[in-house]
Amino acid sequence: MKERICSLLLALSLLLSLGGCGEVGPARPEEQETVSGGAGALEVHYIDVGQADSALLLCGGQSMLIDGGNVDDSSLVVSYLERQGVEQLDYLVCTHAHEDHVGGLSGPLNAFTVCQVFSPVSDYDSKAFQDFLKYTQTQGLSSEQPQPDTSFFLGTAQVTVLGPRRDYEQTNNTSLVLRVDYGETSFLFTGDMEREAEADLMADGCALSATVLKVGHHGSDTSSSYPFLWEVMPRYAVISVGEGNSYGHPSEAVLSRLSDAGSEVYRTDLLGTVTAVSDGVQVSFTTQRAGAPIPGRREESGRETYIGNLRSQVFHLDTCSGLPDERNRVYFDSREEAEAEGYRPCGNCKP
Ligand SMILES: [Zn+2]
Ligand SMILES: [Zn+2]
Repeated sequence: MKERICSLLLALSLLLSLGGCGEVGPARPEEQETVSGGAGALEVHYIDVGQADSALLLCGGQSMLIDGGNVDDSSLVVSYLERQGVEQLDYLVCTHAHEDHVGGLSGPLNAFTVCQVFSPVSDYDSKAFQDFLKYTQTQGLSSEQPQPDTSFFLGTAQVTVLGPRRDYEQTNNTSLVLRVDYGETSFLFTGDMEREAEADLMADGCALSATVLKVGHHGSDTSSSYPFLWEVMPRYAVISVGEGNSYGHPSEAVLSRLSDAGSEVYRTDLLGTVTAVSDGVQVSFTTQRAGAPIPGRREESGRETYIGNLRSQVFHLDTCSGLPDERNRVYFDSREEAEAEGYRPCGNCKP
């Protein structure tokens, strides 16, 4: 019943600009176009909760918490949210029932007014999940199972539920998959989804291409398959993972695949809390601890390659129509390097 009241308030506040849940109200789609004009921003905080997941999204005065880390992270997450000025959570999401995602949601459910709660399942046999249900009820809410392909607004950002596409035995694959679009930028949250569910998203033709990917299952090799990454092609990837964890996350294989996809990788075990801010066109990052992200291989291969002809001593752009035979080629990383070797630029492609 209270749930209905919350939705009613949300609708009312849209019409009358009243307070309460949905104070700011979902934006009308046409407002999105002003986003890239620099009018606002979408902030995504990948909170360092060790070997667990928790992300806070802020946009246009609204907030969404996706997972809350382990039970022990409850108070850490609450104080982090308080420091960000959060007074109410418009959306609280449990991606799946594992403790390292749902455990720390009890604290925020206790500390803040929450308007809507999402979870892929309505029951799960663990104390962490039962507590999550209990505190959701204390808010006068019940957790909702959002349907794939539904969407809603977080400020002027559009959130779309991509998955799960069907029922799974394996809890990680039940993870809610959310895509958040803000202007020309997009963020993908996949919980602990593994290859099977990744393949189902692709089979259903979901729009997966994203600027920033929260890497599935803490960088486990059971997730982030090549075909999936090739669809997402994230410019940036964030791995929420605990230092020295016993699972060996993130796996070397996943780091290598991300590197092949050209993604710049931010790891919470190395950099602490990672914050991404999108102005609708570009995404910039700040990290709690000093350090650089791991660059993707795209950086290197993205540099222009110059191809010299061993016989004519002329060098070309790799796009030139007059490239020499394979056996007569020599490669240079820069124009300067080619010239230093005594090669002269092709008059056709003008490298
Ligand atoms: Zn899990
Ligand atoms: Zn997990």
